[in-house]
Formats: sequence, structure tokens, C-alpha cells
Amino acid sequence: MIIIKFGGTSVQDAQAIGHVMSIVESRLAEKPVVVVSALARVTRLLVKIADEARMQNPRAVATLMDQLRERHISLSRELIGEGPLLDDCISSINSQCDSLSDFAEGVCRIGELSLRSSARIISTGEMLSSTIIAAAMNYRGLKAKWLDARRMIITNDDYMNARPDMEETEGDIRWLIPEAFKGADIILTQGFVASTKEGSTSVLGFEGSDYSAAIFGMALRASRVEIWTDVDGIRTADPRVVEDTCRIEKISYEEAAAMAWLGARVLHPLTIEPARSRNIPIYVKNSYNIPCEGSAVVRDELSAEGPKSIAFREDIDYLEVRSRTLTGTELLASKVMDILSSRRIKICLLNYSQALICLTLEKDQPGFDEALSEISAIGYATLYRDKAQLSVVGKNVVEKEGLRDTVRSCTGKVAMIHDDPKGLSESYVVDAAGVRDAVKELHKRLF
Ligand code: ADP
Ligand code: ASP
Ligand code: MG
Repeated sequence: MIIIKFGGTSVQDAQAIGHVMSIVESRLAEKPVVVVSALARVTRLLVKIADEARMQNPRAVATLMDQLRERHISLSRELIGEGPLLDDCISSINSQCDSLSDFAEGVCRIGELSLRSSARIISTGEMLSSTIIAAAMNYRGLKAKWLDARRMIITNDDYMNARPDMEETEGDIRWLIPEAFKGADIILTQGFVASTKEGSTSVLGFEGSDYSAAIFGMALRASRVEIWTDVDGIRTADPRVVEDTCRIEKISYEEAAAMAWLGARVLHPLTIEPARSRNIPIYVKNSYNIPCEGSAVVRDELSAEGPKSIAFREDIDYLEVRSRTLTGTELLASKVMDILSSRRIKICLLNYSQALICLTLEKDQPGFDEALSEISAIGYATLYRDKAQLSVVGKNVVEKEGLRDTVRSCTGKVAMIHDDPKGLSESYVVDAAGVRDAVKELHKRLF
């Protein structure tokens, strides 16, 4: 079996879905399990519907709902000819949209949106896209069976950022998918969506369809996971920011995880572990350039040393906490960590010595202001806002001679440098305003 995942841009319109079907058709002998995202921009539209409902704007909700329905129905008509397949597809879209409208009206009435309700609304994109793609495949003569991922991926009740119970999930996938293959050549399911043990819909976090694909891959011991997107594989930097990036042919699981964690959005950060745990290669490929080989994410031994890619994050605050004394400071770091973790504040990078702690955090996290006042009671805390992290990723980059001088010559003032303990990345905390130019300049010098 293989897993083939298509992101939003790969299923954005009838032409793109045509490419999807050709790709899947060329892999029938390998028993493809196809995982699809919502159509491009649909998840954003659903987030708006949820926001408008929370703000009690029923007219705005109705207008957005019309757009949602219209886009999916007209796409179905483009892909599927008149007949029972099209009728069933449209009636399913209508009933999913009616049910979402009723739900959003309920939210409008009370003006409150729980995380559980958000997940219910936002999951609709994948349910709709998968309905259409399954019908389009069958219309083309492919024997595709639609399966509900909510019956297979079972999570905790952190509804919008849910984490799977792997044992239960694996059991369900290993039972349901081989059963479904008995009458079909292709299994078609959704990325991103899941359900809690109680049966409420949950989602794996934005961009989480990559993670779903890796979970299916792990559970089914797939021979590979293919992630189809809109770029020629994993590149030396984000091609939307830097011109002339190069394709990385092979990258290790560890390097790919570091890149994702440090901000390269091509793969969701949690995608790597399920694949790595069973040594399943991940291929990142371009559905708009099918012949291009893309990139392979593989075992460490198969990946070369040295800088592979530049990643960056612009949504960063930088915090320094100094001890009030030069003695008795051993506990400062653990106290600061306790305060942050008790409020579930996520830290990105951390450096500390006996009397000084430096760390970066995602900005605007709920509860951070309260945490900062608690931290200020035990040390001198200074927060620097509007920072960015620029990271060079690659096996043993921390050993690369002259790297620091090269990076510093491309960035302005550096507030902190962080070396990954395994040598996989070196990160620089700089002003957010100049980081994109620094990435472009550094890319010219390194690649
Ligand atoms: P999908 O909808 O297929 O999941 P995403 O938009 O989530 O696609 O991810 C693909 C995007 O990732 C690319 O369009 C590209 O702009 C971005 N990206 C960021 N860093 C990199 C990188 N190093 N290599 C390739 N793509 C990158
Ligand atoms: N549709 C979801 C999102 O846009 C999940 C995904 O595409 O990976 O975040
Ligand atoms: Mg994505």
C-alpha cells in the first residue's frame, strides 16, 4: 500500500483534480490510500464563517455559506456528467452545507464558539472536497471507496489541535482500510479531520493533512508516503520568498523535522515522526510538474552533510530573564519553565546559563502576559517584540566553518544564536523587519 496526499492547491479546481486522478491512476497496482485537503482557500473561508457566527452576524454567515456551496456544486458539475453520480454528489454537498448552516445559525444565536464547535465547522472543507473527488474518480471509471477519517483517527479532546491515540487509531485503520479495499482499487479519505473517543469531530491543527497522511502510512506499514503540493519538492528556501531556490534531492527525517519546526511550511512538523518510526520514505512532489522527481525524506545515513535549507519564522517574541543575584540562581531556569508550561506557553528556542535565560516564543499566546508578570516577580525580565528566527538547517551545520560570519554579514544585529544540540540547525534571532532580505542574501551566499 502507498499513501498519496494532495494539498489544497493540488485540488483547487477541475484541472488540478484531473492531475490528481492521473497520478492516482498511474499507481493503482500499489493500492493507493488517497488523503485529500480542503479545496484551496476553503479552510480560510470556514474560519471566517466561524468568526462571523461568533460575532452574531447571520447575514455575513449566509453570504459566505452561499460561496461555499456554490464553489463545490459548480466544481462537481465541471467534473461529473449528468446522471446519478452527479445527483448523489450534489445532494451530499447540499446536505453537508445545510447542516453547517444550521449549526452556524445556532452559534450566531448564542454568540459563543467553543473549540469543539470550531472544529466541527472547520472540518467541513475536507468532507466536501473528498465527496467530490471520490465521485469524480468513480465517474472516470476508477473504483474509489470514500471512507470517513473520523472513524479511523481517534484523538484527545484538544479539538482544534487534537493528538491521536496511536494505538486505537492504528487498530481502526488496520481494520477498516483492508476491508474497504475488498470492493475497491482506491481508498479516498480526508486529511486534517479526526474525532474524539466520544465521537465529536476534532482537527489535527492547521496544515495537519500531511500529518494524517503519515499516520495512515505508519498504521498500514505503507511502502511510501507521497505528499503532492505546488512546488518541486523541498527546496533550499521558501520559493515564495527567494528566487532561484534549488531542489533538495534527499533529506533526512531529522533534517526535515528541524526545517518544519523552524518554520518551513512545506511539511507539517508532526508529519515526520510516524514515518520515521517505521522507516517509511516520504516523497514531496509537485502536482503541477508530475515528471519532476521531487524530494525524498529518508534515513539519516542517506543524507549528505552541510547546509541544506534556510527556514525562518516572523511571528516571534524574544525574552531575556536575568537573575536578581549572582548566587542561588540554580533554580531560575526551572522556575521560568514551570511558569510557562503551567500556562501552556509554547517556547521555540532556549539558551540558558546560571544567571541568564534567553528564549523565543510564538507571539500573542493567550496567558503570556500573566506568565510574564509572574516571571518578573522572580527575575529581571525584558521582552523584545517583533523578532524573527532565521535558521540554517542541515546535518552538522553547527560545525561549518565561517557560517556565523556569513550569516552575520547578511543580518542586522543578532539578539541570540542557538545551536541545535544534535548539530542539525543554527538559528539567529533578528529583527522581523529585515529577515526576508537577510534570507535572500544568505541564500545567495550559501547555495
Ligand atoms: P499544501 O496546500 O499542498 O499543503 P502548503 O502551502 O502547505 O501546500 O506548502 C507548500 C508551500 O510551502 C510552498 O508553496 C512553499 O511556498 C512553502 N515552502 C516553505 N518553505 C519551503 C521549502 N523550503 N521548500 C519548499 N516549499 C516551501
Ligand atoms: N485544510 C487544512 C488547512 O488548510 C488542513 C491542510 O490543508 O493540511 O489547514
Ligand atoms: Mg500544507
